[in-house]
Amino acid sequence: MFNSLRLKLLMSFFLVIAIGVGTIAYIASNSAISQFDRYVSRDQAERYQRLALTFSNYYRYMGSWDEVSDLTAKVSEMYNERIVLADPAGEVIGDTAEKLIGEKIDSDWSNKSVTISLGDFSIGKIYIRTQQRSPLQNTFINSVNKSVLTGGIIAGIVGIVMALLFSRSILKPIRELTKATKKMQRGDLDQRVDATSGGEIGKLGESFNELARRLKEQKTLREEMVSDVAHELRNPLSNIQGYLEGLKEGMIDPTKQVFETLHQQSLVLKRLVNDLRDVNRARAGKLNLDKKLVVLEDIISREIKALEAKAEEDGVELNQNLNGPNLLKADQARISQVIRNLLENATTHTPKGGEIKIKTRSKSGEVITTVTDDGPGIPEKDLPYVFDRFYRVDKSRSRGTGGTGLGLTIAKEIVESHGGKITAKSIEGEGSTFKFTLPLPDK
Ligand code: ADP
Repeated sequence: MFNSLRLKLLMSFFLVIAIGVGTIAYIASNSAISQFDRYVSRDQAERYQRLALTFSNYYRYMGSWDEVSDLTAKVSEMYNERIVLADPAGEVIGDTAEKLIGEKIDSDWSNKSVTISLGDFSIGKIYIRTQQRSPLQNTFINSVNKSVLTGGIIAGIVGIVMALLFSRSILKPIRELTKATKKMQRGDLDQRVDATSGGEIGKLGESFNELARRLKEQKTLREEMVSDVAHELRNPLSNIQGYLEGLKEGMIDPTKQVFETLHQQSLVLKRLVNDLRDVNRARAGKLNLDKKLVVLEDIISREIKALEAKAEEDGVELNQNLNGPNLLKADQARISQVIRNLLENATTHTPKGGEIKIKTRSKSGEVITTVTDDGPGIPEKDLPYVFDRFYRVDKSRSRGTGGTGLGLTIAKEIVESHGGKITAKSIEGEGSTFKFTLPLPDK
């Protein structure tokens, strides 16, 4: 409970309100009182001047201070203060408290003294021990303090109510976020929060929504992948199962050709598993590319050489037009894999007497490689999907040739992880061109 954000927020609000209101109340009360005291002391000074004049007139009229005690008593009564009168030598000649008469006055004794003068001569001094404040003045100051206190309390209460409301509205998006996160924890990935408020909390909401969207996307991809993989495994597995059952029941003779087929199917499975591993690694950004300086044309020549025998057997002509040498920073094995896949696809889809052309050229910081065949081409409706996982244009034929439908997916991941792009163009009945770019290293 003490760790709750709301409590912390409220405590900070309260602290700020208490310090703010307290400081203002203190300053307001102090300045009102000091203004008042200044006014009172100015008023007092005037009164004491008048008092000095009264005594001066008395002396002038009487010619001495004899019997001045009547006057001091009256004045003391009027002002409600003790009054001591001393002659110019400082000897006390009148004291309403009748304590100091005849004694020498110590100037520290009072907090107020007024000189009585007659013309240019000083004829005595009145010493007044004033009370700090009169009861009336105290009443005034108390009422000032009371008003300041009431004002402070009202401001404090208003502040606290506003703090309560504010903290509620500030924390509302966070409460929503917590609720949505809890629902997501239970597997509901459709949770989204309102991220329109802007500021830090709005950004947090946006990040949450993006996270939820990605999680959902990943979940869908995972589910699709599992179902695709299951689907892809079913075919070779049921082939193997069929043959094995036939052999077991004695319905199929264990000829060399049967074992050849079984072996072929197991190779399909192995290839599928290897390709899947590559796709997964690429998706997770874990292809572990071993990038070194390599000559692209050398890689292509090696792959062409490896395929020459098969091309000749199929009656397909392999032509190359390589510029360069183009030096790249790339993973040789992975780039070989891309080229092999494109060349194999082209030979697979090119009929007897056809031609495959492979070309390289460098242009504005990159090298472009194209593999063109004059095979049957790819229908326009299929073209956007050829790089998708398990996508095959002619499903039965492709499976029959051992294609996993993952070759182009892997090629795309490899090219993109090298900072390049791969695209396909095709005209049905005329052939296809696969083009990929790779960035040349800075000189
Ligand atoms: P596969 O392993 O089945 O060849 P790919 O990902 O390499 O898988 O290719 C996907 C599909 O694209 C292939 O099944 C094929 O239908 C089509 N394809 C690829 N290259 C060509 C090409 N040169 N000509 C015609 N179709 C092609």
